[in-house]
Amino acid sequence: NRKRDGKNGLQLFDDSIGNRTRRRAELEQTIEQALHHDWFDAFLQPIVELQSGRIVGYEALMRLRHPLNGVMGPAEIIALAEENGTIHDIGKQVFDKALDHFTRLSALTGDKTSYLALNVSPSQIDASLPVWLASAVHLFDIDPSRIIIEITEATLLHDNPHIQTVLQKIGDFGCRIALDDFGTGYSSLSYLSRFPVNIIKIDQSFIRSMTGDTPELRERSRMLIEGIAAISHKMKCRVVAEGIETEDQWHAVQAIGVDFGQGYLFGRPQSFEDIEARLGNGDLPQIKAATVTRISS
Ligand code: C2E
Ligand code: MG
Ligand code: MG
Ligand code: MG
Repeated sequence: NRKRDGKNGLQLFDDSIGNRTRRRAELEQTIEQALHHDWFDAFLQPIVELQSGRIVGYEALMRLRHPLNGVMGPAEIIALAEENGTIHDIGKQVFDKALDHFTRLSALTGDKTSYLALNVSPSQIDASLPVWLASAVHLFDIDPSRIIIEITEATLLHDNPHIQTVLQKIGDFGCRIALDDFGTGYSSLSYLSRFPVNIIKIDQSFIRSMTGDTPELRERSRMLIEGIAAISHKMKCRVVAEGIETEDQWHAVQAIGVDFGQGYLFGRPQSFEDIEARLGNGDLPQIKAATVTRISS
């Protein structure tokens, strides 16, 4: 299309390539700086039991905390970091922060059972991951069953012969595996039989269409989620609904058998300082969730 736009179109195209190259170089530099200055952090977002609103876990979400430009999310960073290999060092910084925050939070709230979910990209799944997990669990003195490794279908499709072995090791060690963004990949269901998965996270796009525009769409989405939950339970997996933003969505997924939920309704991803400050004010996140008005069923 752009070629047919003639001279101006072509000019625009060249320009945008130039821009992209520049942006990429800038981001690459920012990542190097961030690694060096320890700017990578893990924000924590609660995962709640839908029935009670009680917090059952936290997902660690990577953030780059730039002193001048503020907080940057993972989208662009991770794609680039996977390409240039910095994902390994970023992962270490993020996971160390996550475990530190998680253990301090557990100590503050006296909570000994909630879990910490860590996201890993395909290339992070290598022989060093179980080794790191073993030492981290030892160092922070937590039960391995409280650590969940979140992988996506992309990971399972990835051309990496070690994935099966590494996941098996992680499982044998006592950590659990969650399949993230479930339903958005190519053949989601086949993975359930081939890999040792304990938790299924239904992608937020399904939750969104459940309160979509037409009754047909809403009904079909509802049945789809109900089916996913039923299959997951048959496979002895727990089910998390991602991206819950409204009480309607909460009650709808709860009614069709989803176990846990995560989303802005229950809490946004937050820095440890913010969580700590709220705890100091007596503002426990679980209290917030539980006091949201419930529609009786
Ligand atoms: P994810 O693992 O599926 O994480 C959930 C994403 O949904 C997060 O985006 C979270 O902030 C967002 N979210 C949570 N609740 C809601 C909601 O109610 N509404 C909406 N619209 N969004 C919600 P985030 O933090 O931008 O992370 C994006 C993705 O980046 C993650 O998706 C994960 O795949 C990846 N990621 C995050 N942290 C890491 C990390 O440390 N390592 C690796 N390899 N990937 C990470
Ligand atoms: Mg995740
Ligand atoms: Mg997800
Ligand atoms: Mg996602």
